[in-house]
Amino acid sequence: MKFLDGSEPLEVLEKFQDSELKKALKNAKHSLMYENYKFDEEMAIAEMQTLPFLKASQYQEMFWKHSEGIFLSKPRFWYCTSGTTGGAKWFPRTKKDMDAYVGFDFEKIRGKYFTKEEVVLNLTKPLPIGSGSVTLGLPSYVEEIPAYPHVFENALRLAEKRKPTAIFGVPSIIMTLFDLELDGKRAMDFLKQVKKIVFLAEGVGTNRGIFEKLFKTKEIYETYGSVELGLIAYECGSHSGMHLNEHMGKIFEIIPQDELKKEMKKEGYVPKALNVNHVGKGTVGELVATVFWEVLPLFRYRTSDLVEVQEGFSSCGCGCRYPRIKVLGRRDEMLKVGGETIYAAWLHSALKSDFSNGIIIDYRMIMDEREKVLTFKLKASSKNEERFASEVKSKVFETIDKYSPGVLTREFIEKGMLKMNFEYVKEFEKTPGVKPKKFLIKNK
Ligand SMILES: [Zn+2]
Repeated sequence: MKFLDGSEPLEVLEKFQDSELKKALKNAKHSLMYENYKFDEEMAIAEMQTLPFLKASQYQEMFWKHSEGIFLSKPRFWYCTSGTTGGAKWFPRTKKDMDAYVGFDFEKIRGKYFTKEEVVLNLTKPLPIGSGSVTLGLPSYVEEIPAYPHVFENALRLAEKRKPTAIFGVPSIIMTLFDLELDGKRAMDFLKQVKKIVFLAEGVGTNRGIFEKLFKTKEIYETYGSVELGLIAYECGSHSGMHLNEHMGKIFEIIPQDELKKEMKKEGYVPKALNVNHVGKGTVGELVATVFWEVLPLFRYRTSDLVEVQEGFSSCGCGCRYPRIKVLGRRDEMLKVGGETIYAAWLHSALKSDFSNGIIIDYRMIMDEREKVLTFKLKASSKNEERFASEVKSKVFETIDKYSPGVLTREFIEKGMLKMNFEYVKEFEKTPGVKPKKFLIKNK
């Protein structure tokens, strides 16, 4: 199993990615997934633009259309996505995929987070959903307490005995745990020794500061991944964005926002993507990934996630040079105002800011398309709710202007093309283990 440690110069990384790409292209022509592709086996990453994008919906369609002939090796294990967008998708891995990629991700990268002395409470979703599943979530040498939402009480009793030093899991599940009371004590009382939290899969959002205060720690790390692509990016000790996981040769591209805009306006337009290693700080767009699973390589898979490049290919305090990104949100979550597009991702990003008049604990955004009213429901802690709402509103304007200058002027909004409403709520309804939808569109 070959991997790079990230300190190598760009030429070394690209040579490695080139050779992985060529191997994968040679194999892929035997898969019905790519029956309509014209393969040039000698293609280098610089020429990747000629390969079509692969969308999640196309994968789904091909998967269910063919009974055989999609996968290149016998599957060993099937993962399933939670199906929040467009229904659940099944993705297999071979033994080699699990050993090479999953093994690498967990031992080498998650090994940066956990020492041998660590006792880790691993909060996870039941299989087959979720790559943080019990058997595959953590380096093999840590002591691990696995817990699904329905056994949280038992896990807390064990936690009282084993005294975990770290928590690993998806933010929405971790939040579910904190709502729990047991024997008259809060979950937090069982977890006093925890000094480190590693978040999985989805952004921790506005809760990062809350966790820092709660556990009196700065040792909070976010990681970003999906069932389809494995670990995509991870936060290092410099805490300045997440490094793209190029260690095993995965290739990342970004479709800049102006290209996404052209695609939306003109049917059939194929947007141009740029290799992330060659773009500068501040580039915002949809992340596209090419991964080399033995069972089936995925070429130019569109993640539907909008990301912002925080640092391009450059040195970092941790020694890894891979670009650092921030995940803003879903590309398909957007509102249209006067012919302009506003991505919910920008709004999410605004709400994650530091505010001086209060803290947002949780929120929902509801866009009423007919009335043109965008309502922010905030679960917040603030001494002056009115002043806080006006600070949040200013931040929303400022953020929209940062990501798309001139798209939405204050005058435009004040003319009533888009009204913003702020409401404070005590609690949002929750279903244990289910990730809540933070952006909703009404009266579409
Ligand atoms: Zn770093």
